[in-house]
Amino acid sequence: MNNILEKANYCASCVIKPCQIGCPFNNDITSFIKDIKNKDYQHAYEVLSETTVLPAICGRVCPYDKQCQGACVKRVSYDAVSIGELETFLGDLSIENNWMIPKKDSSNRKEKVAIIGGGPAGLVCAAFLAKNGVHPTIYEKHNYLGGILYHGIPDFRLPKDILKKTIDKILDLGVEVKLNQELGRDITLDYLEKEYDAVFLGIGGNISLQMHIPGENLKGVFGGNELLENKIHPEYRGKTVIVSGGGNVAMDVSRTVKRLGAEHVYVIYRRGEKEMPATKEEIADAKKDGVEFLFQHNILNIEGTTQVTGVEVIKTELVQKEGESRLSPVNIEGSNYHIPCDYVMMAIGSTVEESVVGTLELERTARGKIKIDSEGRTSNEKIFAGGDLTNTPGTVAFAGRSGRDAAYAILEYLEKKSDN
Ligand SMILES: Cc1cc2nc3c(=O)[nH]c(=O)nc-3n(C[C@H](O)[C@H](O)[C@H](O)COP(=O)(O)OP(=O)(O)OC[C@H]3O[C@@H](n4cnc5c(N)ncnc54)[C@H](O)[C@@H]3O)c2cc1C
Repeated sequence: MNNILEKANYCASCVIKPCQIGCPFNNDITSFIKDIKNKDYQHAYEVLSETTVLPAICGRVCPYDKQCQGACVKRVSYDAVSIGELETFLGDLSIENNWMIPKKDSSNRKEKVAIIGGGPAGLVCAAFLAKNGVHPTIYEKHNYLGGILYHGIPDFRLPKDILKKTIDKILDLGVEVKLNQELGRDITLDYLEKEYDAVFLGIGGNISLQMHIPGENLKGVFGGNELLENKIHPEYRGKTVIVSGGGNVAMDVSRTVKRLGAEHVYVIYRRGEKEMPATKEEIADAKKDGVEFLFQHNILNIEGTTQVTGVEVIKTELVQKEGESRLSPVNIEGSNYHIPCDYVMMAIGSTVEESVVGTLELERTARGKIKIDSEGRTSNEKIFAGGDLTNTPGTVAFAGRSGRDAAYAILEYLEKKSDN
């Protein structure tokens, strides 16, 4: 506890609150830290609950250096305030003490909203609707809630019991759940539009992108997202595994595979370590787990006849191209070489499930995502969307924020409808 008070006292309680602007949820960070300084922990939790219902989760998995801590004024000359740790402390304390998420409106409204997908976007949308007295029902295709929090982010980064207890708190607000219900298989959007006053779509986008290189259809090539979601791991002991990519998914896939016994795991990334989208901590943790990195390398070819036997790689140099904000990797002619391997995991990005999204008759973005306005409205006034299904930046906090924004837009839509 002394350690936590020390960390809270380190905060300068700035009046301009840049950390709050840096936080996707717009949490009032200086105020909850002030409450921690005064040891008024329950009030600190209530301040946080105004804007988020995921403190024990975001405190553990947010890329703070790019969000709240990245904006901390202390960071200019010293280390940033440990906002993530302080948020985790409050989230865990609320679980230990069984503090309820405060409701804003306890009146029992009649409106019902269907939420499709039980990941962070859907869970937060449901929570903010229930906090305001509306009845949300989550339809989830798996037999568990959490989405990528459950099946993507490994237990060694986000313990399952913390996730379960955080979800239980949300359900305690009065959220109904229907598991094993897949949009496009068990339910249709038409049915939901008829049965509910509004619908929120939060079905994510967890389909691995392909590199479109020769050999990608060989046995032994896996999409990293599907590998984690469906736990379709082959036997790794004594094997060499190549992971292509440089973000969260590449780190979680490589660490999981290494922990499952692979002899060598090489992460191949086109740019340098500094340019990797994964956080410094994730890269350091992967190295500690024994994952090896080949920076400034590109995969040209996956080799084998039916089963993967290796990859042909080429080294890259980084050049500043006109009009580009990031350095671009350019293959260095003649630097190709072969690496024998048993499996190749694609972790270069992800997209939406076309077989479902293509049937929804909603406007799409150029990248195939569901188009929304800044508050989660789609091209159909009764349907709202958020998270990875849309253009929202792909982090837990941004997905949650989009769910909360959509909840407020839904409330506004329901008010207008009841006035007419
Ligand atoms: C491996 C991995 C690690 C990551 N690590 C981090 C991290 O450390 N920090 C961070 O901030 N972000 C991280 N991210 C990104 C973050 O997890 C996502 O941006 C976020 O989970 C998106 O939330 P969502 O609710 O939109 O989608 P999801 O979390 O994918 O949830 C979608 C839900 O919808 C359900 N669903 C899908 N299709 C249907 C259907 N047809 N019918 C009904 N239900 C359906 C799914 O089963 C799932 O429960 C990571 C992503 C991955 C893949």
